[in-house]
Amino acid sequence: MEYFARHPTLDMIELYILNQLHFQDQQQMAKHLDGCQACQKMTGDLQEQIDIIRETLTIQ
Ligand SMILES: [Zn+2]
Repeated sequence: MEYFARHPTLDMIELYILNQLHFQDQQQMAKHLDGCQACQKMTGDLQEQIDIIRETLTIQ
């Protein structure tokens, strides 16, 4: 049985992008993303938002 048989929460994805997950969770998340297009898209969208926020913060 896969650890992430179900989709990770948005919070988990956010932590994953920010590299705040435990190593093991990070690995499991990467594995899930590998086979889940829905979460891949969510991760991409979230990453974009975070990039925009970071850019905004840098400008100010
Ligand atoms: Zn998923």
